[in-house]
Amino acid sequence: MSTPGPRAGAQDADCVVVGGGPGGMVLAYLLARARVRVTLLEAHQDFDRDFRGDSLHPYTLELLDTLGLAADLLRLPHFTARRFRFHTPHGTVTTADYGRLPGPYPYVALMPQARFLSFLAQRAAELPDFTLGLGAKVNGLITRADGAVQGVRYRARDGERELRAPLTVAVDGRFSTMRRLCGLPTESLGASSDLLWFRLPRRADDPPEADLELYFGRDHYVGLLGGVNDWQVGYTLPKGGYAAAREAGVAPIQEFVAAHVPWLADRVPLLTGFDRTRLLSVDIARAQRWHRPGFLMLGDAAHVISPVGGNGILMAVQDAVAAFNLLVPVLRAQEPLTDPVLAAVQESRQQAIDRVQAQQVRVERRVAHRRDTGRSLAPPRLVKLVTALPGAQVRAARANAYGPNPPRLDTRALAR
Ligand SMILES: Cc1cc2nc3c(=O)[nH]c(=O)nc-3n(C[C@H](O)[C@H](O)[C@H](O)COP(=O)(O)OP(=O)(O)OC[C@H]3O[C@@H](n4cnc5c(N)ncnc54)[C@H](O)[C@@H]3O)c2cc1C
Repeated sequence: MSTPGPRAGAQDADCVVVGGGPGGMVLAYLLARARVRVTLLEAHQDFDRDFRGDSLHPYTLELLDTLGLAADLLRLPHFTARRFRFHTPHGTVTTADYGRLPGPYPYVALMPQARFLSFLAQRAAELPDFTLGLGAKVNGLITRADGAVQGVRYRARDGERELRAPLTVAVDGRFSTMRRLCGLPTESLGASSDLLWFRLPRRADDPPEADLELYFGRDHYVGLLGGVNDWQVGYTLPKGGYAAAREAGVAPIQEFVAAHVPWLADRVPLLTGFDRTRLLSVDIARAQRWHRPGFLMLGDAAHVISPVGGNGILMAVQDAVAAFNLLVPVLRAQEPLTDPVLAAVQESRQQAIDRVQAQQVRVERRVAHRRDTGRSLAPPRLVKLVTALPGAQVRAARANAYGPNPPRLDTRALAR
């Protein structure tokens, strides 16, 4: 991994990618594999983020397989989740059964995001056209007189730098600085819950199938994400309910978890205070426009996905694949990255993002309605009947595993 050099020639790279999350890392890796000179700038010194999505869906695993990376990645410690289940007061409902999918990876791999990103960064570092700048916080755009973006300014450990490229791709997450710098507004579609995350230790005799589960109670539900040494537990609060929850202390949370996830009851005393939790303000939002000449946003920067359905990483990865397919020929031909060229990327992803967000909004509204009318947050009994219909669990698994309209990687671009 190298640090980009100080003010090199007129163009320091063919593309600068801002943000080393799943979307930015996959895009940068793909571009480097296609012999496009790409520099990835990441604000942090490493990829370690607490409480981020850790789920690698069958689509992502198949993509990595195509790139010859899946076998090595899956040698690293991870868990496999073959079912997505709800535990409700009227029984357990399997909503998605990945284990019955026909593809080579019939499961969701749960691997800490940092492990996945570090693996990809190491593999990318083997490619001559990839440059990684860690600890590089982008804080400005270089623009031409006509407004076209020509690169970025950033703060590195040794001072202010700039990097020029005909294309800047912002994959800098839900609080995107680049989106603000470009003046591309977002619209919030609303969310009814916030999430409080904390960790509890994992034990060898914990239920082997608990890695992707929701436990519903009357006013809250908890989601579990399995890790190698611990469980990430997400406890829902009504939107804006953090101050009241903090005032009440951790006892109600301990009681809820002990009552609804009884096998964790022996560990809830380890949640000793709010300093052991992290608040995630849930949002579902989107930018109307993802681009301007020389500039494109992808992933959460363009569309904030809520944790409902666990497909934020999948959407960011698929954005990267769609952008790669459409932009590599333009970058290679050194043609201008105009609005119509970049609009084609947004168009190719818009319908999928709209469908995923619409589903998330439906869930949010249902939760809000049930909370407002004093009913249990658990899904209605009908869900149990519907998911028991032949094929329903496989259809749901396929929809979640691949997302709507999954882009197929154009491998011809890699073969040069
Ligand atoms: C608590 C939580 C739980 C979640 N659970 C799941 C889940 O189970 N499954 C799932 O699929 N998704 C989940 N998500 C969502 C998922 O993490 C995101 O949708 C996904 O990470 C988006 O990827 P991205 O590449 O667009 O952006 P991000 O992963 O947000 O990456 C953005 C990167 O940009 C960097 N950056 C930011 N600003 C700058 C700057 N100015 N200069 C340089 N770099 C910058 C950041 O440091 C970061 O590394 C969860 C999210 C949260 C917060």
